[in-house]
Order: sequence, then structure tokens, then C-alpha cells
Amino acid sequence: MARRPIIAGNWKMNNNKAAAKELMEGIVNGVKSLDADLMPEVVVAPTFTALWQVQDCIKNEPKIALAAQNVNPNESGAYTGEVSLDMLADFDVKFVIIGHSERRQMFNESDEFINEKAKAILAKGLIPIICCGETLEQREQGVTDAHLASQITKAFEGISASDAAKSVIAYEPIWAIGTGKSCDAVEANRTIGEIRKVIAKLYSADVADKIRILYGGSVKPSTIVEQMAQSEIDGGLIGGASLKADSFVELIKGAMPVSV
Ligand code: PEP
Repeated sequence: MARRPIIAGNWKMNNNKAAAKELMEGIVNGVKSLDADLMPEVVVAPTFTALWQVQDCIKNEPKIALAAQNVNPNESGAYTGEVSLDMLADFDVKFVIIGHSERRQMFNESDEFINEKAKAILAKGLIPIICCGETLEQREQGVTDAHLASQITKAFEGISASDAAKSVIAYEPIWAIGTGKSCDAVEANRTIGEIRKVIAKLYSADVADKIRILYGGSVKPSTIVEQMAQSEIDGGLIGGASLKADSFVELIKGAMPVSV
């Protein structure tokens, strides 16, 4: 079964309301003439404070979906600074990014907490984009596959096969994020193939065949075509290159079957 590719922009802590508007107008303009049937699913993840602005910019553009960069899995209560799924329901948010290495490393988020988030997101009918990835040290020690298997197994604990099949995984080697040094496409493809085998073992070959697994880590217009040509790579989670309309639109085009 063919998996529909995804090109997702993770804006991180960038873009106030005015900057979000300017960027989104450029992206909306850039995708206007593209054939929706050939396009990847395009996802934009602004900061919480720009969700309204981005939603307003895409209200007449069904080719672009909205994502949140984070969520707290608790219903409500004394969690200063956090945002709940009920609050995200005020927006047309379809995806939520969880398990990003920046949150794991800077905010000490554990595999267990990420699993709680995944379950809460799926229970509300949204789709988690579950990030995983190894450090340079782990890669050099040859423990990448084992580390990813552990992260994925813990993230999917207690999640049904049907929910797993609609979830999205983003393989993001930490050493490739924001460094300009993308993982070799063939090696990224091999690693994603290993992640798919973990899903097959946890669930079934059918779920492994359905789940979309993205590559993230210094994806650029110059790398996307080779990355998308790999059989296991179902798209990209993109930081830096999603912050300029021209490069993000180039990435969308690079994920289309014919050059546009
Ligand atoms: C990311 O933040 O998920 C990411 C992949 O960033 P960059 O594309 O800038 O490496």
C-alpha cells in the first residue's frame, strides 16, 4: 500500500504573529498552483502563540494542516506554562509533535512521559508525530538500532494496532539536527527500515506497512529528492529550512512524484 508522504515544518521557538503571517502567506502562495492529488500532506507546526494566525492563513487552503509542537497529557490543573489537548481543540490542530530530542534533552522528557502524551493525543483523535533519534556517541558505539528500538517500544506501550497505524514516527539523528549535516540518505533509509521492523514485531507487517516514518535532520531543498527516492522514507520533519517560504515550498515540490 502506498503511504502518502508528509512534509512537516517545525518552527520551534521562532516567529511571532507578524512573522508567522508573512511566512504563511508565502507558503500558501507557493502551494496554490500545485496539484493537491500529487502533493505530500503538508504540515506546519508554529508556536502555540501563532496557532491562531497560522490557522487564519490556511482557512481557505486545505492542502496545509496545522500541528502543535507539544502538549501536556493531563486534562487540566496545576501545570504552570503547559497547554492541554482541550486547549488545542480550540484550533484545527491535526498533528502534535512529541519526543523531539530538544524536549528530551533540554526538558528531561522521559520515554514514559512521551508514551503518556501519545496515548492522550490519540484518545482525542489527533495524530502524534513521535520523534526518536540517537546521539553521535550512540552511533559511534554501534548502538543506534537498539536505542531506537527501545525508544519506539516505550513510545507505543499500550497503544492499539489501529492507533499505531495512523501515528507518524520521525527518525531524527540528534547529530544531524540543526547542524547542516544530513544523515546519508541510504543510511537513513536503512535505519528507518529497522524502525519499521520494530513496529512489525510490536504489531504486525500490516501496521508496519501503513505507519509513516519521516526523516528529520538538516533536510534541505538540495537533499530532499534523494531522501524521498528511498523506499522507507515517507517524508521529512524540517526545522531550519521550514522557516523560509521559498525553501519550504521547494521541499514540498521535492516530495512530489514528478518535478513541478
Ligand atoms: C527538527 O527540529 O526537527 C529538525 C530536523 O531541524 P533541522 O531541519 O533544522 O535540522
